[in-house]
Amino acid sequence: MATDSPASPTPSSPTPAFPTPALKPSTIAVTAGRPARTPDAPLNTPITMAATYVAGGEVEYGRYGNPTWTALEDALGALEGGRCLTFASGLAAVATVLDLVGADGKVVVPRHAYTGTIMQLGDLEARGRLRTELVDVTDTDAVVAACDGAALVWLESPTNPALEVADIATITAAAHEAGAYVVVDNTFATPLLQRPLEHGVDLVVHSATKYLAGHSDVQMGAIVTRDDELHGVLKGRRDLVGAIPGPFEAWLTLRGLRTLHLRVERAQANAEELARRLAEHPALSEVRYPGFGGIVSIVLAQGEVAADLLSRKTRLWIHATSLGGVESSLERRRRWKAEAATIPDGLVRLSVGIEDVDDLWDDLRSALDGCVG
Ligand SMILES: *Cc1c(COP(=O)(O)O)cnc(C)c1O
Repeated sequence: MATDSPASPTPSSPTPAFPTPALKPSTIAVTAGRPARTPDAPLNTPITMAATYVAGGEVEYGRYGNPTWTALEDALGALEGGRCLTFASGLAAVATVLDLVGADGKVVVPRHAYTGTIMQLGDLEARGRLRTELVDVTDTDAVVAACDGAALVWLESPTNPALEVADIATITAAAHEAGAYVVVDNTFATPLLQRPLEHGVDLVVHSATKYLAGHSDVQMGAIVTRDDELHGVLKGRRDLVGAIPGPFEAWLTLRGLRTLHLRVERAQANAEELARRLAEHPALSEVRYPGFGGIVSIVLAQGEVAADLLSRKTRLWIHATSLGGVESSLERRRRWKAEAATIPDGLVRLSVGIEDVDDLWDDLRSALDGCVG
């Protein structure tokens, strides 16, 4: 594999100053990706709006690099413990990883992975580009068995919205023995709760649209790799295909990242408390919470109709798709035709925000009270 990007005249940006092993994640979130401390330098990396650069330098053209992307990539790379590339969206990052799979290669994927990921794989399979094998990601033996002959093992943990958790280390060891790459979609856990590269995983994918940016106002994606060669190959794909982020989006995401630890801590504390209180509510047949993160999935005992009613009745909780913002939102996932048929009709995914937990509970409880029997 080539280490240089095929389109760019020079290799990709040099290894960032981070990670510094002594620093804790919250310190990295605040300090990484800032300009050098020279007199009168701004504290924050500015938004560089540039389609081209004066010739003779490292970057040359807007599609090959941007200092605002680099600042964000340094920070997110340091948090995950690898080298980061940012993309126009989470799905652009997913597409770039799937592009690594050779003709007719086999991809192992959780049956409850994010619908967009499943749809991309379905599309590629329908066009004869690759083959997929769907697995129950909680059945480690079945996933390990499926690794045989695979080119890529896709993991998402916890899954969206079933909240299943994979045994990342065991599956990664088996996948590597079979000669497959392993990727983890780390969107739900964020690098504060789970750092897959430390378990030997080759690639981490993010929808930065969710927790990393964190304010429901920007769409972005990222890939983090441990290996410089893989980084170079993916950079080459980004250079060629052009699924690049906007500089303003990169700036917003880096600004969001500065408070990631505070937002994740608060969302998780709220989610834990709500999961405990929800477990007692008679309108629900099931409460799923994996024990970490800010997403709780609930199943309405009265199914689809009750779930739709709940979505209309809340006043604080916003009925909307997506997740990971400061504001709490909820959604019945099966309202999307693409959602897996094995997800219960009455499942509502709660994206718990950082508001006061009692206010969130009061709103949710009174809406749920109207959904009993
Ligand atoms: C939203 C999401 C994606 C896709 O990201 P976009 O930014 O919407 O393209 C991928 N994976 C997971 C787990 C997601 O929740």
